[in-house]
Amino acid sequence: MKTVYLVVPCYNEEEVLPETAKRLNRKMKTLKRDGIITEDSRVVFVDDGSKDRTWKIISKLHQKLPQMFDGVKLSRNEGHQNALYAGLMQVKDHCDAAISLDADLQDDIEAIDEMIQYFEEGTDIVYGVRSQRDTDTFFKRTTARSFYKLMKRMGVEMVEDHADYRLMSRRALEGLSEFREVNLFLRGMVPMIGYPTAEVYYERGERFAGESKYPLRKMISFAAQGITSLSVKPIRLITSIGIGIFFTSFLILLYSLIRHITGHTVAGWTSTVFSIWAIGGLQLLAIGIIGEYIGKIYLETKARPKYLIESWLHDEAEEPETDEPEES
Ligand code: UDP
Ligand code: MG
Repeated sequence: MKTVYLVVPCYNEEEVLPETAKRLNRKMKTLKRDGIITEDSRVVFVDDGSKDRTWKIISKLHQKLPQMFDGVKLSRNEGHQNALYAGLMQVKDHCDAAISLDADLQDDIEAIDEMIQYFEEGTDIVYGVRSQRDTDTFFKRTTARSFYKLMKRMGVEMVEDHADYRLMSRRALEGLSEFREVNLFLRGMVPMIGYPTAEVYYERGERFAGESKYPLRKMISFAAQGITSLSVKPIRLITSIGIGIFFTSFLILLYSLIRHITGHTVAGWTSTVFSIWAIGGLQLLAIGIIGEYIGKIYLETKARPKYLIESWLHDEAEEPETDEPEES
């Protein structure tokens, strides 16, 4: 039996929290009763600097059921990713695994059983993946699709149709803590941890109350964050454009030569146009090369772990041979 914590970031969620707490309480009770998780397992609400009664509700929940609900309050609104990360780091030394989920319970909590089952079988990261996107608007569906495509082009490894509903073992959480970057894009970072992974499929429901804390504006900046914090390809793009433009200048030179031979010379045109393209191309190329170094510096400053060890086969010579039977 394992101790499993649920980590729930909350930003202005007074409308959904009481119901969410009720449902999670019921779910956790069942899991505890069925001997799937230990009595120490908890639900941790992370208040991401809410301006409404969110923290009050969380404190009340903790007061009423201290064995079930914990609260973490951030000093200010740091955004979903940071709030989630804060929660995970807060609990990693107290649990065997943590499951992150949204406060609006759009992610089917019945998938938790399967996640824990995978975890029991030795999987470190279990991704919750949406089996379909029927409940989404056409707009959301297409933008999401193009986002995943773009990310793949940018060389970022991501699990398609997986948001931040996932189980992570303590070992995976410790791995995550080794990533020193400040700009968090967990969906791109978690696959970099490695370790055995699995996927469970579920249907994503609608938000049952309140409104989305992710308007289009935040979604776009989230996507941009994802690309710029995980990829230096945009810099490479500048380099290739520079090379392309520089070569175009030679095509113009060739074109002018042909025009000259066929007797259509326009005085001064060749030198002007050629130099515009040549200099423009060279400048972009130069920026790209400088960018390449900046990109390196950028990635270095993240000080990501160079590796995480998954298993270590090692025999200590002096170790006493007491094979304690495992309790379960
Ligand atoms: N959230 C947060 N900080 C923010 C914005 C959102 O902690 O600045 C939380 C929010 O309370 C919810 C989760 O992130 O638990 C996902 O937000 P939401 O459900 O509004 O996003 P959507 O499902 O519409 O993409
Ligand atoms: Mg939601």
